[in-house]
Amino acid sequence: MKEKYLPSVAEGSCWAAFGLTEAGAGSDAAGIKTTAVLDGDEWVLNGTKQWITNGGEAQIYTIIALTNPEKGIRGASLFLVEDGDPGFTYGKKEDKMGIRASATRELIMKDCRIPKDRLIGKKGTGFITVMKTLDVSRPSIAALAVGLGQAALDEAVVYAKQRVQFDKPIISFQAVQHMLADMAIQVEAARSLVYGTARHIDAHPKDMSKSSSMCKVFATDMAMKVTTDAVQVMGGYGYMKEYPVEKMMRDAKILQIYEGTNQIQRNVIGQELNKEYA
Ligand SMILES: Cc1cc2nc3c(=O)[nH]c(=O)nc-3n(C[C@H](O)[C@H](O)[C@H](O)COP(=O)(O)OP(=O)(O)OC[C@H]3O[C@@H](n4cnc5c(N)ncnc54)[C@H](O)[C@@H]3O)c2cc1C
Repeated sequence: MKEKYLPSVAEGSCWAAFGLTEAGAGSDAAGIKTTAVLDGDEWVLNGTKQWITNGGEAQIYTIIALTNPEKGIRGASLFLVEDGDPGFTYGKKEDKMGIRASATRELIMKDCRIPKDRLIGKKGTGFITVMKTLDVSRPSIAALAVGLGQAALDEAVVYAKQRVQFDKPIISFQAVQHMLADMAIQVEAARSLVYGTARHIDAHPKDMSKSSSMCKVFATDMAMKVTTDAVQVMGGYGYMKEYPVEKMMRDAKILQIYEGTNQIQRNVIGQELNKEYA
């Protein structure tokens, strides 16, 4: 199987997607209903994954499904499903508030048959693998947030230097300077946290859930605040589509929602603190 995928990955032509969420299983990811049953040399998958990034564009899909439904999520396993597999289709492209250049679709599996060796890891370890994967991937959402915050700050500063009101560039008003200063402080703090968390993860700690969640929450809340403030600094022009900050503000919102909402991240941090101070 490895030989089959590695060349196209190396060429940069292989897109991947991650299918966890279902209509009834968002924050409560343990509520998934998709099943996988072994039939001879093939797994047969049934279920629908919702709002999957790169859905319909990717060639390979990591799908979590119940292989032992009586055990609930402890009986879940991970599979590799390929574009074109029999019984595997897509829903319509979602019409979203932001990140509109990124396709989001349903993944529909109706008696979807895949070879037996497409099971990833051991049967029954799917949920643990998914949770560990999210621990590592969340700081990458935080990194996106830092880029977005920095871009919004850049736009706001350039604009504030050019825009003249009351015969002065608006950057000369202390109220505007303080907004820009706060934006810069927040972006820099988030950047430091992302690098710090990345170093922490590179050291392969036993548990990284708390640091990963803290990083995601701080940076993505920062991106929402800084992009909103960039629109404010630019006034009515910031609200118009001619300038990029309204798009940045719309794009920032998803960062607080996907890869686990910021409320769920705060739950994780709180639970870890409770354990640490036991
Ligand atoms: C554009 C987009 C792309 C996505 N891409 C993917 C993808 O590639 N793969 C994938 O698997 N999923 C993907 N998702 C799904 C995403 O991860 C979920 O939307 C997210 O986890 C939240 O689930 P939900 O939307 O069902 O919200 P819900 O779980 O219904 O939550 C609604 C609200 O209730 C709050 N809430 C729920 N439970 C609790 C609790 N216990 N404590 C406190 N607050 C709580 C939430 O924080 C939220 O504010 C994507 C979603 C979107 C919108």
